[in-house]
Amino acid sequence: MAENAEQYVPDFDISRPTIARVYDAILGGKDNFAADREGAAAYMKHVPNSKEVAIDNRLGLEKGVAYMAKHGIDQFLDIGAGLPTMRNTHQVAQEINPEATVVYVDNDPIVLAHGRALLATNETTTIVTADLRDPESILTHPDVTKVIDFDRPIGLMVVGLFMHFHDQENPGEWVGTLLDACPSGSYLLMTDFADTGEPQQKAIEQAGLEALGNGWVRKPEKILEHFQGLPLVEPGLDWVPRWFPGEPDREVPAAEDLAPHNRIMMAGLGYKA
Ligand code: SAM
Repeated sequence: MAENAEQYVPDFDISRPTIARVYDAILGGKDNFAADREGAAAYMKHVPNSKEVAIDNRLGLEKGVAYMAKHGIDQFLDIGAGLPTMRNTHQVAQEINPEATVVYVDNDPIVLAHGRALLATNETTTIVTADLRDPESILTHPDVTKVIDFDRPIGLMVVGLFMHFHDQENPGEWVGTLLDACPSGSYLLMTDFADTGEPQQKAIEQAGLEALGNGWVRKPEKILEHFQGLPLVEPGLDWVPRWFPGEPDREVPAAEDLAPHNRIMMAGLGYKA
């Protein structure tokens, strides 16, 4: 029983799963309801290691944020931020630079409701309810413009988000609009579900379609297109457990030595010169 969630947001429609709450349920969080847990169960049915896939994704986020913070980025725009969980963007960034500012953006209002509690004492981090499908609404949101200085390099993040959009929607265009507003020296961090023809990848797509009606896999060349032509920091696009932007700080496993569920999520970090 998700008592905390129910006490917090009694007015939300809890009869249908949302992406943020299903993801929270997969990660073992408590900000979810019965319909979300059913969605998470669909993931577990098709991909029993779904929690590890989500953790891979979170580790990709941490590695990307740490790289950017160590390379001078002190403001982050994290789109599709999700519910607070282990080591969030502001915690990773502010551990390296306590002055770093973070704006979390999510279109699910539950993220704002729960995030506020987490951020009650953090003056350099804020949460905005807005939709990537309307990038201008993000760029002009007063809580975004108050915290993010668009004249200085920005760490733009779309982590674990693009799989929820079909390419027919042309989601690259939305990110392109955001990137156009970011000055040179900015980065684009992205993770996405890849399709290299392996059964576990089709299985996670099937799970997403069953649980949420979205959650597609993409050919790596399609994922690359969403970086809008930005050159990628070494090693480019790779499976998250093998992906260490810049210098790897440990031995990198061979792709074929990874467990199949570790070959679902890919990460990349583009740099706007
Ligand atoms: N970025 C976090 C991570 O990688 O751990 C959370 C990923 S979660 C799978 C995707 C998040 O994107 C959810 O919280 C969902 O509400 C949000 N989302 C989905 N569609 C969105 C949209 N059109 N605009 C903004 N956020 C969106």
